[in-house]
Amino acid sequence: MKKLISLIIPCYNEELGLGTLYGAIMEVAEKMSEYDFELLFIDDGSKDNTFIKIKSFAQNDNRVKYISFSRNFGKEAAMYAGFCNAKGDYVTVMDSDMQDPPSLLPKMVEILEQGEYDSVATRRVNRKGEPPIRSFFARAFYQIINKISDADIVDGARDFRLMKRPMVDTIVSMCEYNRFSKGIFGWIGFKTYWLPYENVERAAGETKWSFWKLLKYAIDGVVNFSQAPLMISAWIGFLFMFLSILATVFVFVRKIVYGGSVEGWASLVCIILFVGGVQLFCTGVMGSYLAKTYQEVKHRPHYIVGQSNVEEVIKK
Ligand code: UDP
Ligand code: MG
Repeated sequence: MKKLISLIIPCYNEELGLGTLYGAIMEVAEKMSEYDFELLFIDDGSKDNTFIKIKSFAQNDNRVKYISFSRNFGKEAAMYAGFCNAKGDYVTVMDSDMQDPPSLLPKMVEILEQGEYDSVATRRVNRKGEPPIRSFFARAFYQIINKISDADIVDGARDFRLMKRPMVDTIVSMCEYNRFSKGIFGWIGFKTYWLPYENVERAAGETKWSFWKLLKYAIDGVVNFSQAPLMISAWIGFLFMFLSILATVFVFVRKIVYGGSVEGWASLVCIILFVGGVQLFCTGVMGSYLAKTYQEVKHRPHYIVGQSNVEEVIKK
């Protein structure tokens, strides 16, 4: 029996580029005739004609499956819906804008077939075409998160990663509500082969990630995979307590030796403001962990399915 390759394709307002992507995948599928393909499009509440396009592919091609969300739940939820419903022996996420080139698939499958690796992950070796400020912050993020968390997150790693069934089942079993897939992939381990490639610019349409959305996602990544910010707050608190004891001793000794003075109120106000700021910052750090815990314990669904042609669609 032929092995099945599932491609999970999250789409949010991608009507312009979907045709190109579908064509490119078909071309690759034709060349890889010793495999069956399943194209699992996840329409993440698109407001344009993305879903109509997907349905038109499905009408003529029974390899095309779709799940359409009731609203926009974000790429993480779309990927999770894909992992839960993909049936393939090999499964990968593939962006719908051609930034994850389908032409890499034969090479990825070939590496998995050799048997040594559980997954083949792709990594951009450059960030050509990306605004420099975005690249700078992205690099800084990877350096920080690798220092403070036990998830190994590679700079430039994409979600385009072909995985064998056991790895996919493990990802599905990690049902946390606040998902950061790059961290999850690294955290679960398994043997991964890294395939470098040159960055490709989006084929059509525009990016869905503003700078602020990315920043929020990066903070999510840190909070989800590291308790370091909590420890840092505790250490800052300890440092200030220590400094205040030194200062008290200093003021006390000076009072005894030189007598009192009324000078220094301005610096005192600065200190009070500074310490107040540090306290609020630390409370904020704690609050963000608490907020995540609150979201987890509510056990809300990750996504809500509007329409689908997947038999017995799995809802999580
Ligand atoms: N995407 C999604 N839901 C969202 C935002 C994005 O499903 O809320 C999809 C999008 O359609 C694309 C992929 O996630 O297939 C990556 O998005 P994008 O290309 O905008 O990100 P970038 O490549 O610029 O980081
Ligand atoms: Mg993109």
